[in-house]
Amino acid sequence: MKKRKKQTNGVLSNMVASVLKRCENLQLKVKILATDHNLQMMKEVSVHFDSELPQYNTKGGAIMQNDRITVTAPTEMWVQALDLALDKMKQSGFDFSTVVAVSGTGQQHGSVYWKNGSHAILRRLDAKMTLHEQVKHCFSIKDSPIWMDSSTYAECRYLEKCVGGAQQLADITGSRAYERFTANQIRKVFCRQREAYEKTERISLVSSFAASMLLGDYAPIDYSDGSGMNLLNLKLKTWDKTCLLSVADNLEEKLGIPVPSSTDLGYISSYFCQRYGFNSNCKVIAFTGDNPASLAGCRLQKGDIVVSLGTSDTLILWLDEPHPSTEGHIFINPIDDDAFMALLCFKNGSLTRERFRDKYAGGSWENFSKALQMTKPTNNGNIGIYFDVQEIIPESVGDHRFDGKDKKVVEFSNDEEIRSLVEGQFMAKRFHAEQLGHKLTPQSRVLATGGASANPEILQVLSDVFQAPVYTLDTSNSACLGCAYRANHGVMGGHKTAFADIFRQPPNYKLAAKPRPADYDIKRYGRLENAIIPL
Ligand code: ADP
Repeated sequence: MKKRKKQTNGVLSNMVASVLKRCENLQLKVKILATDHNLQMMKEVSVHFDSELPQYNTKGGAIMQNDRITVTAPTEMWVQALDLALDKMKQSGFDFSTVVAVSGTGQQHGSVYWKNGSHAILRRLDAKMTLHEQVKHCFSIKDSPIWMDSSTYAECRYLEKCVGGAQQLADITGSRAYERFTANQIRKVFCRQREAYEKTERISLVSSFAASMLLGDYAPIDYSDGSGMNLLNLKLKTWDKTCLLSVADNLEEKLGIPVPSSTDLGYISSYFCQRYGFNSNCKVIAFTGDNPASLAGCRLQKGDIVVSLGTSDTLILWLDEPHPSTEGHIFINPIDDDAFMALLCFKNGSLTRERFRDKYAGGSWENFSKALQMTKPTNNGNIGIYFDVQEIIPESVGDHRFDGKDKKVVEFSNDEEIRSLVEGQFMAKRFHAEQLGHKLTPQSRVLATGGASANPEILQVLSDVFQAPVYTLDTSNSACLGCAYRANHGVMGGHKTAFADIFRQPPNYKLAAKPRPADYDIKRYGRLENAIIPL
């Protein structure tokens, strides 16, 4: 920290290209990014799995099995990509000796199974050899289950039954059972590959796996990524005993003790000092999942909300008091252990907006925007709820229109149709955010990203519905940058320092809309939405 001018923070990430839009356009890669003392990006290299490591035959960094529900990634490929990324950084002339701290992120939910005896190998890595050469035989399960997997339906129902139901599991862990969540993946290994499970001495998440490489030791799982497992008790911040017992034998000892996301894990392994020239004082700060890292990268604060308007729409919320539900996910907040964050995904985003553009605005976004200008906030009481494909939140489909007296109607005027769609989509977001415990405060900001955030009229409606200013921000690299920020936060004392205090320059948010006076009845919206959910 003394050599302030030369200070850099490194970040390692095995990430989905854009975390807020993780469902589409996956370009899985390992990326290394370094920031300078002002936390501005100064160097970036990456290794693209499909094109640069074609021998693993991955598509989008993953392998889908013949059953089309089992999706994995070769664990060994991640290690080899890390070797290549570090080599690229070295070849570019990057001075590793200036790095003060390293942190990182990994795709959430994926798991790595370390074979008995691997710890000893990690502890004495030989700097003359690549990591890949030394750890490639360390995995009892060679292909890591990842977030795209949906093969654990039976395991999910079993876990929910063991704890008393889906809501009970959400109350404990922040989410009902999901097929990609790690508890259910571990149970599948336990039930179907018992011998491999017995031979496993440690289970890591993708994030703690990458941290283990840097540390030359098993790195603990952090609270925030640990919240995406259906195993961590959100209130106690420990593995939940009932969940542990329901998943597999001797699981607690294989998981290690979870830690706060800003934990200083110790010094970087001597392997990296000898092979790449890192300073032996370089710290490793706990790694976390991609969504929590993105929250850090967006510099979210109490009361803020990120709205990503892409093919599907996603919300990331800051929560002080969580109200878990069977919809969405609640995680422990990566930059404040006493707070929480939530993630909500709505399938019907831009595709439905495009349908309305084509039907009611002659296929032009300009006309679509004009319709929003020509109509008034709250749309004379007309509310529309439109789901082209089966929605996740709520589980419903079809077009539903209500007039000011809550009477079902067939159609509004063309301009009102457009306003009813945009208002309906944003009222749904506010309603579900509030259901999970989000509270708008006078300081709340809505941070908008994604393709539709280019449209000022759509953002004006967003601002009116949330009664908060809307800012746009560039989220490319948000997860990676978030970890460079977290690395800095970790060396500055972690949770003892306010995250906002680590920045010397103001965030690059652009004010896009200020709220106009408007009285949106969010409770009424909720009643109408509940009325359309099939029994
Ligand atoms: P993805 O989730 O596929 O990465 P993007 O975040 O890039 O999507 O958003 C793409 C979407 O943005 C397009 O499907 C399009 O409907 C929408 N879009 C682009 N420009 C506008 C605009 N001016 N107004 C509203 N929506 C827009």
